Amino acid sequence: MHFISTRNNAPAATLSQAIAAGLAPDGGLYVPQQMPAPRTLQAGASLAETASMLLQPFFAGDGLEPELPRICAEAFDFPAPLRRLATRNDHVLELFHGPTAAFKDFGARFLAASLSRLRADQARPLTIVVATSGDTGAAVAAAFHGQPGLQVVVLYPDGRVSPRQAHQLGCLGGNIRTLRVAGSFDDCQAMVKQALNDADLQARVPLSSANSISLGRLLPQMAYYAHAALAHQAAQDALLNVAVPTGNLGNAMAAVMARALGVPLGRIVLATNANRVLPDYFGGGPYQARASVATLANAMDVGAPSNFERLRWLYAGDDTVLRAQFVARAVDDEAIADTIAARHRRHGEVLCPHTATAVRVLEQLRASGEAAAHEHWAVVATAHPAKFEAVVEPLIGCEVPVPPALAELLRRPAHAEPCAPEYAALRDTLLR
Ligand SMILES: *Cc1c(COP(=O)(O)O)cnc(C)c1O
Repeated sequence: MHFISTRNNAPAATLSQAIAAGLAPDGGLYVPQQMPAPRTLQAGASLAETASMLLQPFFAGDGLEPELPRICAEAFDFPAPLRRLATRNDHVLELFHGPTAAFKDFGARFLAASLSRLRADQARPLTIVVATSGDTGAAVAAAFHGQPGLQVVVLYPDGRVSPRQAHQLGCLGGNIRTLRVAGSFDDCQAMVKQALNDADLQARVPLSSANSISLGRLLPQMAYYAHAALAHQAAQDALLNVAVPTGNLGNAMAAVMARALGVPLGRIVLATNANRVLPDYFGGGPYQARASVATLANAMDVGAPSNFERLRWLYAGDDTVLRAQFVARAVDDEAIADTIAARHRRHGEVLCPHTATAVRVLEQLRASGEAAAHEHWAVVATAHPAKFEAVVEPLIGCEVPVPPALAELLRRPAHAEPCAPEYAALRDTLLR
């Protein structure tokens, strides 16, 4: 299979080329030339086997194809359990059992496993530049740490990530460099995009990205939806609907693609924080990127969701058809806090702020009847609440135990270099 740019102004690329490049040369996002036909998928396989089965058509004919089962085994070496919530027919898909306790570990580990194979025979190291609103950088840094032939430069908005997130970003050292940028996530993302589009720089320092624009992160995220939905259908004979905490739309986009490939998913609902670009668009307004605002669910503080371009491509740019496919709702900080406190008080459930946005949206859909009582829903739990203890603990009035992998990272000393929110500052750093 070949991959083309959403902007139609770049040559078709092989999967390996698309994964290595990150962004297409015309500034667009890589998408499959055509979506593979829906297939009959079997329940009962492991998460890694499900990933391998689902991703096979995308790898067909590529140099990485023979490695796919091993890449999946490396990336999917921790579980993604679907658990029941206290409220009837509601579930939670826990994606936070990886090394940095967020769902981004899946995509980051898959990308690292793929790139390390692609770089095996290259003389010059490849530098991955990654902008993060918190979790991406940590997942990417952990996944690439110690990988030969690969270096990582992480940019994060100083003061806008939780202290534990900041610690995770700066604690690895070695082939990982961490920049704390005196600006917003959108500034960081714009700086990275500019570096990736700077041909002169690329000639001197080979670069790639690891943001959710990267196909190497997007594609594997389909696997946990497939694994959970197939198991649920086999056990309960019910279609799983999902509510996805959404920022850059990478996670939800993977759900959309999984459903297009025949995974038994029902509706896909997008839950955002107060950054309401998507709810406004799906509510009938024009698509209008804007500056992000800081919220309690900081990994979703995104004013220009980068995968929107992919989603629009999948629906051939037809806004009417696209709008009919999704419900998107915004949840403000007050409601996020209230949900965390109330779910703990009533049901003993401990939610991270991102997961809480989607729980809140599902509660609203249940209350209004838009999600009927007999429907089965899963809220996607994108991070472990211990990553956001400063928000969660005061609301629930007790400590959140830290998972062992996270505790190990927090024991290491951390360091980040200051960086101005300007492309020139990043360019200098990359050339140094
Ligand atoms: C990144 C992130 C999100 C948003 O995911 P997107 O793919 O950007 O929509 C939600 N929750 C957490 C905890 C995250 O780290």
